[in-house]
Amino acid sequence: RTVYVNGSYMPEENATVSIFDRGFLFADGVYEVTAVLDGKLVDYAGHVTRLERSLGELQMGMPISSEELLEVHRELIKRNNLEEGALYLQITRGAEDRNFLFPKDAKQTIVLFTQAKSLTAEKSGLRVISVPDIRWGRRDIKTVQLLAPSMAKMMAKAAGKDDSWMVQDGFVTEGTSNNAYIVTKEGKIITRNLSTSILHGITRAAVLKLAAELDMEVEERPFTIEEAQQAVEAFVTAATSFVCPVVEIDNVELSGGKVGPVATRLNQIYIEESRKAAI
Ligand code: PLP
Repeated sequence: RTVYVNGSYMPEENATVSIFDRGFLFADGVYEVTAVLDGKLVDYAGHVTRLERSLGELQMGMPISSEELLEVHRELIKRNNLEEGALYLQITRGAEDRNFLFPKDAKQTIVLFTQAKSLTAEKSGLRVISVPDIRWGRRDIKTVQLLAPSMAKMMAKAAGKDDSWMVQDGFVTEGTSNNAYIVTKEGKIITRNLSTSILHGITRAAVLKLAAELDMEVEERPFTIEEAQQAVEAFVTAATSFVCPVVEIDNVELSGGKVGPVATRLNQIYIEESRKAAI
């Protein structure tokens, strides 16, 4: 692969960052993952807007102009012949001798690389377990401190399942790397309201907009695992999984473990719309 590090393109074997990088020592950095369909970027504007917000919340700015950033995304897609997959972007505060205080004038580190992956293949439903949400309190900032969700995903794997839904104060926050939804018997889509407790998913925003256009009823509020187990359907959304059905929650199958029509329809329409709108 050709990757991008601090202004240069290079083979991945040659790419390095300092051992003093605060991304490495303090997880002092933010990231974005943007889907690529037909060699084009999906929901790019949303990802850049969230990136700027994440940086701002941590008193950082953008190390390169927005024109350059788009150019780097496109150049990496071209150099790696990426048709379908993801573009990973990470910006850290940069390298300085280890100190809890933010350095005054460290040069930020910016890294981008591609990941080829099939995004449009038909999905079998996920089986999820619930685990306590032990993450920090600013999950609306997309930081690279992903150990808690990584552990939650390992717990799912150890249980022979696909993913975990994290639970705080009795209510589901979100999946390890996705936003969580249930569909009630009345056909209403329920997903947790935005706050500092969850990441404000770009796919979530796009899918809720689609749902409204399709006259599907949506309610943004927290829900419990017990309520989810009584739902007729569940699903998750994320940039590289689009709308992915969930068919089992803590060993309880929803609708006999069959992938549901709401998730299937939203996924199809979201892919169609993304193909049209990708840049
Ligand atoms: N929630 C968490 C914790 C995530 O890590 C992610 C994506 O990685 C999402 C939700 C979904 O966000 P998006 O749709 O912007 O990919």
